[in-house]
Amino acid sequence: MMRAKLYLETFGCQMNVLDSELVLGQFCACGYEPVGERDQADVILYNTCSVREHAEQKVWSRLGELRERKTADPGLVIGVIGCLAERDGANLFRRYPYVDILCGPSELDKLPGMVRNATVTSGRQSALMGRSGSRRSSTLDAAEDKLEMLDLSRSVSPSDERTQAYVRITRGCNKFCTYCVVPYTRGAEVHRPPQNVIDEVRKLADAGVTEVTLLGQTINHYAYDHGDGRVTTFAGLLYQIHEAVPHLARLRFVTSFPRDFTNDALAAMRDCPRICRYLHAPAQHGSDRVLRLMNRGYAAGQYVEFIDRAREYMPDVCIASDFIVGFPTETDEEYAQTADLLRRCRFKNSFIFKYSPRPGTVAMDRFADDVPESVKRSRNNDLLGVQQEICGEENRKMIGKKVEVLVEGQSKLVSRKGGGGGATVELGWEKPAAATQGQLVGRTRGDQVVVFDGPASLKGKLIDVAIVDAKSLTLFGHREE
Ligand code: SAM
Ligand code: SF4
Repeated sequence: MMRAKLYLETFGCQMNVLDSELVLGQFCACGYEPVGERDQADVILYNTCSVREHAEQKVWSRLGELRERKTADPGLVIGVIGCLAERDGANLFRRYPYVDILCGPSELDKLPGMVRNATVTSGRQSALMGRSGSRRSSTLDAAEDKLEMLDLSRSVSPSDERTQAYVRITRGCNKFCTYCVVPYTRGAEVHRPPQNVIDEVRKLADAGVTEVTLLGQTINHYAYDHGDGRVTTFAGLLYQIHEAVPHLARLRFVTSFPRDFTNDALAAMRDCPRICRYLHAPAQHGSDRVLRLMNRGYAAGQYVEFIDRAREYMPDVCIASDFIVGFPTETDEEYAQTADLLRRCRFKNSFIFKYSPRPGTVAMDRFADDVPESVKRSRNNDLLGVQQEICGEENRKMIGKKVEVLVEGQSKLVSRKGGGGGATVELGWEKPAAATQGQLVGRTRGDQVVVFDGPASLKGKLIDVAIVDAKSLTLFGHREE
C-alpha cells in the first residue's frame, strides 16, 4: 500500500521546532512518509507563530498559494497548527475555507486522528484550547497530561546522527507581559516531572546527541512540586541532569526571566563544567515607565543588578538579550535609555524587534500603537548599530584565544536565528573574505559563531579552534590539530 506523504513547515521559535519534531514522529509512527516538497504531499501542515504580525503574514501567503491546488485536488488535507491557529481560531476557517484542520499547541496529541478524520470525512477538524481552557491549573500533574505523553513518545536513534536537540522542561507562561500572545496561545505554566526530563536527556545523549538545550518561556521559574513536601527547583534540576547524564557534553537553556534568577542557579552554572555559561535573559526595555507598561515586573536597575551578579559568579558568561522598540508612548528619551542599558550590559547578542500589536493582548486593547513605523525602524536600526559595535569590540578580544567549537556543518550565508519562545530575527551573517570549499561553521559554549577550514566529516564533533580574526557576528579561526 502507498504511504501517505506529509509535508510539515515550521515557523517561529525553538518550542515550535520541538513541537514539529514530536508531531513528525507521531505521523511516522502512523505510517506517513515525510517529504521535503510541498507539491508531492497528500497532507500539508504549517506549524505557525503568532508573536509578531510578520510571522503570521508568511503563513497567510503560504495558504494563499494553496487555493488553486486544493480546488484541483479536494483530497489534499491542509492543516494550520500552533500559535496562529490558536490565536485566530474560526476566523482562519472563514478566511481560508479550504483549510481542513486547526490545531493549537496544547492539542497536538490529537493531530494524527484529526488528519485521519479529515481524509475520511472531508470535514473540517478543529482542536483549540480557547480562552476558557487557557488557564489550566499550574499544579496540574504533568505526568497525567496528554501533552506529556507526546514529549515522552519521542523516538531517537544513533542512526539519526543528531548533534543537538531541544528538551522542554516547562510549557506555557504565567507572566502576561502586555504585548505578548504566548500566555493565551500556549496556556498556563506547567512544569514537567524532573525524572521525565532526565530520562529524555539521557535518551538523547545515548543516541549520540552532544548538546541539549532545555526550553521554557521563563525557564528559571521551574519548580516541580512532587506533592509530598519535596520541590525540585531549577538549580536542582540542572545539578541532577549534569550528574545523571555524564556523557552529554553540553547542556544549555533558554529563556531566562531576569527577575527571580536565584544565586543557586548561577552557582550550578559555575560549578557544573558541562553546563554552558550562556544566558539568554531578555531585558525588553531600558525605561522603568515602559517596563511597567509592559508588565515585566522589574525595573532597569534590577535587570542590571542581575547581569552584574551573573558576571560575578562567571566572569566569562556570554549574555544575550531581546529588546522591543516603539512600544506605545515610547519617547526618544526612553528609547535612549534602552540604548544605554545595552551599552551598560554589553550583550554578546541582542534580538531586536519593532513593537507589533497583537490581537487579544492587553497592550493592543489599552494602548494606541502611536509610534510611527518610520520611528520604529530608525530606533531598530540604531539599536542594531549599537549592538554590532559591541559585538565587534567583544569579538576582537577573542583573537588569539582557543575555543571549543561544536561543528554544525558546512558554512553558508545564512540568517542567524535565536531568542527564546518565538524570538527570531534576521541579522545576516557575514561572509568571510575568501569563502572556500571545506569551510565549516560551529558554535562555542557561549553561542558565538566560528568559521574555520576543515573536512565535512567533523560535523557533530567538538574540536578546539584558535581564533585569528573577528567580525561583529562571526569569529574566524584555525583548527588545532
Ligand atoms: N519568554 C521570553 C521572555 O520573556 O523573554 C520570550 C518569548 S517571546 C515569544 C520572544 C520575544 O519576542 C520577546 O522576548 C519579545 O522581545 C518579542 N516579542 C513578543 N511579543 C512581541 C510583540 N508583540 N511585538 C514585538 N516583539 C515581541
Ligand atoms: Fe511570557 Fe516571555 Fe511572553 Fe512575557 S514575553 S508573556 S515572559 S512568553
